[in-house]
Amino acid sequence: MDMKSTFESMVEDHGHWMLLRKAVLNKPCSCVGREGTILETCGLCNGSGHAYVDHLVRARRTKMIDSVQMTTDIGLVATPRWHFYLPANTQPTHKDWIIEIELSPTDQQPIYPIKAETYYNVTDVESMRELSGVLAFWDVQTEKSNWNV
Ligand SMILES: [Zn+2]
Repeated sequence: MDMKSTFESMVEDHGHWMLLRKAVLNKPCSCVGREGTILETCGLCNGSGHAYVDHLVRARRTKMIDSVQMTTDIGLVATPRWHFYLPANTQPTHKDWIIEIELSPTDQQPIYPIKAETYYNVTDVESMRELSGVLAFWDVQTEKSNWNV
């Protein structure tokens, strides 16, 4: 099997449903004023000024502790990074968010209306390709964050 097929069957078996909240390029949020002012506490855009569209995607999450460590008042702290492996057709960017949602405990399907549980801010995106150059999947690095809701 090629890398793309291997990824797709892995996500089918070991992934789960989540939202990819994609920023819509060149479309400002409704909170943005004529002079470009943004409502910092806006629950629609989280103070970014972008309009967003949510996509239900099946993906895989992996926790990684970055080798980057910081010395703080309480000692040496490693910042956990959460990597998500997203299908090739999602084209994530660093303006996007990933949101884990409530799933049914019996069949792991999304519960409607969809309820957000954990927000992840995308910090880095890498395309994972076959040797031939064909895009297999995306490796998206995130950190847990908050959304003003
Ligand atoms: Zn807004």
